[in-house]
Amino acid sequence: MQIEHSYADTFAANTEAELVVPSQPAKARDPQWLAFNADLATQLGIPESLHATQAGLDLYSGAKLPDWAQPVALGYAGHQFANFVPRLGDGRALLLAELVTADQQRFDMQLKGSGTTPFSRGGDGKAPLGPVMREFLVSEAMYALGVPTTRALAAVATGDWVQRDEAQPGAIITRIAKSHLRIGTAQFVAQQIAQGADESLRQAFADYVIQRHYALSNDRNPPYRALLRQIIDQQAHTVAHWMSLGFVHGVMNTDNMTLSGETIDYGPCAFMENYDPNAVFSAIDRAGRYAYKNQPGIALWNLARLAEAWLPLLAKTGESQEQLIESVTELVHEFPIRYEAYYDQKMALKLGLRTPSKDTQAVVRDWLGILNTNQLDFTLSFRRLADVLEIQDSRFNHLNEWNDWYQSWQQLLSRQQDSATSVVTRMRQHNPAVIPRNHWVEAAIQETLRSGELKIFNELAQVLRTPYDFPSKLSRYAEPAAPEQRVTRTFCGT
Ligand code: AMP
Ligand code: MG
Repeated sequence: MQIEHSYADTFAANTEAELVVPSQPAKARDPQWLAFNADLATQLGIPESLHATQAGLDLYSGAKLPDWAQPVALGYAGHQFANFVPRLGDGRALLLAELVTADQQRFDMQLKGSGTTPFSRGGDGKAPLGPVMREFLVSEAMYALGVPTTRALAAVATGDWVQRDEAQPGAIITRIAKSHLRIGTAQFVAQQIAQGADESLRQAFADYVIQRHYALSNDRNPPYRALLRQIIDQQAHTVAHWMSLGFVHGVMNTDNMTLSGETIDYGPCAFMENYDPNAVFSAIDRAGRYAYKNQPGIALWNLARLAEAWLPLLAKTGESQEQLIESVTELVHEFPIRYEAYYDQKMALKLGLRTPSKDTQAVVRDWLGILNTNQLDFTLSFRRLADVLEIQDSRFNHLNEWNDWYQSWQQLLSRQQDSATSVVTRMRQHNPAVIPRNHWVEAAIQETLRSGELKIFNELAQVLRTPYDFPSKLSRYAEPAAPEQRVTRTFCGT
């Protein structure tokens, strides 16, 4: 593992721009381990001495940082629920370093919940234990499900109390990400330029994004439209994956959308149980702006904000301002086309169908209609369709719409001339048996808050590492909530 600080090296000297601001972690009173992700540590090449050891605890609690860590808070802006906030930034997070792996992949290592920074705006800079455990479980589950995401390396309790509605133990999560650059970071740059910073910062930032995330050949001159197109494509892919899994992010503000396409910020997120396009969990999302069905539209809206922030870079020689806006609008509207293509592909695969078409779209839509009308569990119903094929499971037979639908599905399956086994295998590879269900995540948190035990947390984390295998022992974690266990509201924990 090699340590670098390329983002700070590029932007820290420009102290006016405030993209990178040095800041120190708070002294945790009594750090204790909650979780350590040894697999991820090994993948990153982190030396054993910094695994679940005292030196590791010192690092991941921020108590005693090694020399190679240079803690900085990053500046960004963002539209929160459509309102532009010109200065957000890391109010409770610190970037420690970039890790470069043996195969030359670069990752940010960031502490979240490590105390106030120059961006804290009156907040305490802390994270309560519950949200840290939730992010640990859900981000790692998303990784195992195959979704581009930030990851969780370590979680430690700080021994301090954090005052929210009720006092909760404080905790810190160590987040690993391809980078922490967001649409909001590009907006922050544009905002600084509007307030007098040098115009060259816009290009310098975009160039950094290219260099860090997107292999764009130099012969595209200038490369910024190609950059925007790649970001659009990544986001389309990520959001399509969310939709295919019933994932509701919950707070798709522009500061919570990365330029790498990784899912970030597991605050009020939840997986829906019964299929419901209007599903919304976040307690603060009263208008349902970030409801399940709105996610692709919101991603498009956010990408339009990115295009605005980069507009001067996107100009072609000889283009009038009007033409520029028109052609960039057209580019941004590639999002729905790309999104639909990814979505159709993923949903077809969930029904065992290799190639998406108008027919597979119709059969997917009708199946979702059946789930919706009959209030069926999204995840398990898809999963059980494979059992229908394999063992003639009859659980859906009583549904009115079943026979007709089953016939049309069978017709499509028979057209692709595949063995039944390979269809079943394909379906099980695209329909998880286990997702981080909210009542189990909540149960894990409550157990730890009540008794300090981590039994549910560890078991849940274990089954979520192989979500496409039906858990033979811990099958209770695959089960939906009983009515009285159902979690309908989630909270950011900020
Ligand atoms: P989030 O809702 O986590 O995306 O955070 C939105 C903004 O609020 C970011 O700028 C965070 O750094 C900031 N923030 C959230 N919680 C806290 C906190 N406890 N103390 C200081 N800043 C915070
Ligand atoms: Mg955030």
